[in-house]
Amino acid sequence: MRLQHDCPECGAETFYRSASTMVQLGEKVKWACTDCDHGFVRINGAVDTGTV
Ligand SMILES: [Zn+2]
Repeated sequence: MRLQHDCPECGAETFYRSASTMVQLGEKVKWACTDCDHGFVRINGAVDTGTV
């Protein structure tokens, strides 16, 4: 599964789904940049930068 998202680190536009877990709020998905180590977490599709 892939996601179009601009990477703030290297400028790449594709992220891949590196992990997902079920949490109280819903599905927590970890997305990682295909070109560098930058990543972020979304819960039910909403960006949650506080838990990266
Ligand atoms: Zn990147």
